[in-house]
Amino acid sequence: MKLKTLEISGFKSFADKTIIDFMPGMTGIVGPNGSGKSNIIEAIRWVMGEQSAKNLRGSKMSDVIFGGTKNRKALNRAEVSITFDNSDHYVKSDFSEIRITRRLYRSGESLYQINGADCRLRDIHELFMDTGLGREGFSIISQGQVESIFSSKPEERRGIIEEVAGVYKYKQNKDKAEKE
Ligand code: ATP
Ligand code: MG
Repeated sequence: MKLKTLEISGFKSFADKTIIDFMPGMTGIVGPNGSGKSNIIEAIRWVMGEQSAKNLRGSKMSDVIFGGTKNRKALNRAEVSITFDNSDHYVKSDFSEIRITRRLYRSGESLYQINGADCRLRDIHELFMDTGLGREGFSIISQGQVESIFSSKPEERRGIIEEVAGVYKYKQNKDKAEKE
């Protein structure tokens, strides 16, 4: 399962449509302060279903829509699409390529799609469930999270490692079974 392409349009500082092809061997994105590196990560989080504006450094969800600059007026919608190569069928789907789209208008109207077909947010969550990807996965570690991992208590840190290793859900099932 590989990240292939990210298309960003009207999201945060990316007013114009911007396409990032994640070519084999690519390991990082560099650029001056304020150039949009974190906005790229947030675009990935957002299209994967992030529901918290705060996690995207905003106070309301429409803050992700390009808000205008001195020379350019604000836009009315943000759209992000992410494409994964799923030829190994890591995500349980018949598709060998998965493209997810999320769109939001200032009016609050929004849309989610999987491979061009309208879907619910829930369908996107379900698609990535148990893959370690998705909104609560640890595939994206933010700056603040690194600090909190270092300063957390040993048992909390163990919980994070268990979740990454995929044993957390079995532990939860075990605890549930023991209680029953
Ligand atoms: P650093 O190296 O400091 O971490 P960065 O490359 O991660 O910088 P970002 O935080 O991604 O930079 O980008 C910040 C820029 O995005 C700021 O100039 C900010 O004004 C702009 N920005 C954020 N949200 C919007 C928005 N809704 N509309 C327009 N511009 C926005
Ligand atoms: Mg940054």
